[in-house]
Amino acid sequence: SALYKVDGWGAPYFAVNSSGNVTVRPHGSSTMDHQEIDLLKVVKKATDSKSVGGLDLKLPLIIRFPDVLKNRLECLQTAFNYAVKSLSYTSHYQGVYPVKCNQDRFLVEDIVKFGSSFRFGLEAGSKPELLLAMSCLCKGASESLLICNGFKDAEYISLALIARKLSLNTVIVLEQEEELDSVIDISLKLGVRPVIGVRAKLRTKHSGHFGSTSGEKGKFGLTTTQIVRVVKKLYQCGMLDCFQLLHFHIGSQIPSTALLADGVGEAAQIYCELVRLGANMKVIDIGGGLGIDYDGSKSANSDVSVAYGLEEYAMAVVQAVKFVCDRNSVKHPVICSESGRALVSHHSVLIFEAVSSSKYKVPTMSSFDIQHFIEQLPEDAHSDYNNLSESAIRGDYEACLAYADQLKQRCVEKFKDGSLDIEQLAATDGLCDLVAKEIGVSNPVSTYHVNLSVFTSIPDFWGIEQVFPILPIHRLDERPTKRGILSDLTCDSDGKIDKFIGGESSLPLHELEGESGMKYYLGMFLGGAYQEALGGVHNLFGGPSVVRVSQSDGPFGFAVTRAVPGPSCSDVLRSMQHEPEIMFQTLKHRIEEFVHDEGDMGGAMIAGGIAQSFHNMPYLTVGSSCCLTAAN
Ligand code: PLP
Repeated sequence: SALYKVDGWGAPYFAVNSSGNVTVRPHGSSTMDHQEIDLLKVVKKATDSKSVGGLDLKLPLIIRFPDVLKNRLECLQTAFNYAVKSLSYTSHYQGVYPVKCNQDRFLVEDIVKFGSSFRFGLEAGSKPELLLAMSCLCKGASESLLICNGFKDAEYISLALIARKLSLNTVIVLEQEEELDSVIDISLKLGVRPVIGVRAKLRTKHSGHFGSTSGEKGKFGLTTTQIVRVVKKLYQCGMLDCFQLLHFHIGSQIPSTALLADGVGEAAQIYCELVRLGANMKVIDIGGGLGIDYDGSKSANSDVSVAYGLEEYAMAVVQAVKFVCDRNSVKHPVICSESGRALVSHHSVLIFEAVSSSKYKVPTMSSFDIQHFIEQLPEDAHSDYNNLSESAIRGDYEACLAYADQLKQRCVEKFKDGSLDIEQLAATDGLCDLVAKEIGVSNPVSTYHVNLSVFTSIPDFWGIEQVFPILPIHRLDERPTKRGILSDLTCDSDGKIDKFIGGESSLPLHELEGESGMKYYLGMFLGGAYQEALGGVHNLFGGPSVVRVSQSDGPFGFAVTRAVPGPSCSDVLRSMQHEPEIMFQTLKHRIEEFVHDEGDMGGAMIAGGIAQSFHNMPYLTVGSSCCLTAAN
């Protein structure tokens, strides 16, 4: 576990047991009541059709732990409750979950259910997100906030106002000044008194990758001049009492509590000024940004780590708001946050399989082979070879590599002009690789092929080079003997993972035991936020299968409470407007023509095989050599 820094990024939820398997403590601790769950056992159970109602679940697989989610939510609330109490803050904390982070139905429903006792709400950034938030919050607490962010047209604003009419605690947060006229007009037409918030563009700037949303030139929010104009317009319309919330978001992964306190303090000062101008202020919404320590380094100087925990975060926020409000003699507002990453990252684990590994094998060459090779070389390449062998005898390895390179380039030119044949070119490559190996500069890193699409399942690695903890979920009692990078199934050179936590460019991995039939499972952790929401269908690989696992009293200590196979080839084809049924009929018709012209050649079997391929997931069917025979 030390090799993969599990204690650093995984505590208190992930650990390694004495059998060398990764375990999950969904409640953040293991007690008599809460045993650890062995991830390998979950994978075995989920892929055993008898255990999941006859479903044939294939990898890649997302395992969701609702108990982890509940624990994260409760820890966040507890951290704020503690800060409120210990600092004698006279209002309370009431968070919302930004659904953009992961819109999975069951995840959002769980958050509303687990958070209803402390009025936890939702944030939406688009019309479909608003629709889902509206319907979910009908089952939540009536005071839970429904924050409407994002660019808004008349339809979005109408929906948000209808939500208010339905007694949902909806706040329309102006992202652009122009939205105000529509809100005023539509609310008058619908006869609904809106609750309005404003997203402020703060001067405090977060300099990390995720900070481009912040600062005066940031993409979102209203400048101070615009906020003052909003106040004036609302006053003129007799609607200043509707202005109740101030929001800001300085970016995800806020690196330190010092920066956080600076931003919150600036926003609190704007809040107090709005109170002075007569707005009916009630809530300060500090946006997202509560970070995750992906590499366990607790560092404030990295995009993948943060130097604080939930408690320090809550304390810094409450302290900053209280200080500014007390200075201005303003009543303490309700503090709302829109933490996404920090709530949902831990709750799911992506499991995938390494199906093969390849390391370039340096060819062996006997002295006879080398002699033969030299005789075949074109005249002008002889001098390169002689220089190469003389520098080898002298022990001048740098010159050796330079002459090997020169020899190689000359032979490539000769091959291109047709004067060197392919065997001679291969022998040149072999000799140069041999030289590199002897000198010790050949690359010892293997490529492990994984049954996964990076574009679908880890899009942030491809898009912004965000690293996540990745490690085998078993055999951790055995020292890995190799180092590898991971290459995915897509035919795209970006479809590989060659950067890992701790700044590593390869991962310690075990030798695959292909012959013994033992599979090699890897897990990607802390990917519950954004990855599912952003993943695409490059090469038409769809999402993974999903299971939901809860702790239970049974012999394994867990139960699979929901299992959903990943999208089939038909499903992903349909997502690009193809019509699998018509495609199949076309192919069937072609088979019938062949059977007619050339006699029976197993037409039914071929049609069955094609039908099966439409039905299967697009990932490799590991262990099956040909799906056409499998279909029979
Ligand atoms: N709120 C807003 C307005 C955002 O833009 C975001 C994401 O960037 C969030 C909340 C969630 O941020 P995080 O996942 O860092 O908590």
